Amino acid sequence: MAANILIVEDEPAIQELLALNIIQAGHQPIRALTVEQAQLIMQDTIPDLILLDWMLPGMSGIEFARKLKADEISKSIPIIMLTARGEEADKIRGLEVGADDYVTKPFSPRELNARIKAVLRRRAPQMTEDPIDAGGLRLDPTTHRVTANNKTIDLGPTEFKLLHYFMSNAERVHSRSQLLDRVWGDKVFVEDRTVDVHIRRLRLALEASGHENLIQTVRGAGYRFSAQ
Ligand code: CA
Repeated sequence: MAANILIVEDEPAIQELLALNIIQAGHQPIRALTVEQAQLIMQDTIPDLILLDWMLPGMSGIEFARKLKADEISKSIPIIMLTARGEEADKIRGLEVGADDYVTKPFSPRELNARIKAVLRRRAPQMTEDPIDAGGLRLDPTTHRVTANNKTIDLGPTEFKLLHYFMSNAERVHSRSQLLDRVWGDKVFVEDRTVDVHIRRLRLALEASGHENLIQTVRGAGYRFSAQ
């Protein structure tokens, strides 16, 4: 699944290089030259990952990282800091404000992609292509197939994404608005009850193999995928 990766970098040449890298890695770059631009973009789209330059005009990258991590909506977005300063003290400062990783400029495309992949795998496993096994189901993002006892379960595209998200974040309770954010992404005009409709369809599809109880309703809170 392609991840939306927000690049906040004021040097156009470096930004271009980063965007090309991200496209080659199969993801979708979103570009901002300043923190102000990034904040405007984030009013509409919550990115899956942020590549954040340290030295920016106006608010610095490190200040922005601190702000993002203090905000309920943005605190779970993984951040990779970019910097020309390779000193250990800076690295520690970056990680202290909540950045997930750190890349020193000039960086090699291979190193950058490896770090993006590692951070996404850790923080947003549904963005990687690794198959997931949970509760007797196997979901393969590469082939877009879900199987139970070696039989394929028919799922619509939204149900597939929903199940992928659930299986990547098993046992955790997700509110409807969290699911809208993480599964529907930038389509912010979708109503909460749309989530219920797709949950119903997902359960119906899982009934065929007797796995519908994996999707649990948590009263007053939301939904959970639980294999227990
Ligand atoms: Ca800069």
